[in-house]
Amino acid sequence: MNRLIRGTAGNNQIRFMASVTTGLVGEAAKRHMTSPVVSAALGRLLTAGILMATTMKNDKDILTLQIKCDGPIKNLLVIADSKGNVKGYPGVNIVDIPLKSNGKLDVSAAIGSGMLNVVKDIGLKEAYTGQTELISGEIAEDLTYYYYHSEQTPSIIALGVLVDTDYTIKHSGGIMIQLLPSAEESIVLALENNMKDVKSVTELLDAGLGLEGVIEHYLKGIDFKVMDEIEPRFYCDCTEEKVKRVMISLGKDELSSMINDEEKVSISCNFCNSTYEYNLEDLQEIVNRL
Ligand SMILES: [Zn+2]
Repeated sequence: MNRLIRGTAGNNQIRFMASVTTGLVGEAAKRHMTSPVVSAALGRLLTAGILMATTMKNDKDILTLQIKCDGPIKNLLVIADSKGNVKGYPGVNIVDIPLKSNGKLDVSAAIGSGMLNVVKDIGLKEAYTGQTELISGEIAEDLTYYYYHSEQTPSIIALGVLVDTDYTIKHSGGIMIQLLPSAEESIVLALENNMKDVKSVTELLDAGLGLEGVIEHYLKGIDFKVMDEIEPRFYCDCTEEKVKRVMISLGKDELSSMINDEEKVSISCNFCNSTYEYNLEDLQEIVNRL
């Protein structure tokens, strides 16, 4: 189940996007065979990717979120577009670390310290790039910090992934609320007040309140208007042909030695873990084409 709602609130002083990503995070976890804490970290970043990518205007705009860190997960990479397509992978798919004292998965310990890179490719000659230090490794806080320091946009970001005892994804989702330049003090105070006793996104989803319930909880007491709804998905655009082009780029010598060493070669796509296999004949045909 995947949903994403965009809207405005408080007479256009706020914009928000909220998403349930249980289905797409479940698919990512299954494809990358992640341990629970990696599912949570990757799921949070995938959810952030689709929320943030919907702030871009054109269909072909691409958002890349990259975390490079010194924790056991090593890095995370997520690519999303403004239509709700997202893909991503962790540097290490199995990380096993103790739960936090409150029984929650310790995403912060899996990530450690490092940098967050945000790249927005909006079809200009040079992509927009922003970089900030990770302040907690919890991802939502790191992105809030990024928006404030790199884009001067005060934001509330909440991301959550609840992993079930059988390692499947029980609930996943997030909400991002941003103050527009017109925002008055009263709306800031109303939001701050809501944050005092705020519940987590997964807590609300687990209570059966749904995506609308999440939005109502975070925007309590503030009028909001839904603009549109889309269905995000885990989507990778790798194809046999694209992988073949990567093979060709290896060059004749490299390919010839592969033919000598192996009977067949399999190449996996980093993003979706799809495997493409080439037998001797396929390889020979590629070499002949060079
Ligand atoms: Zn792929």
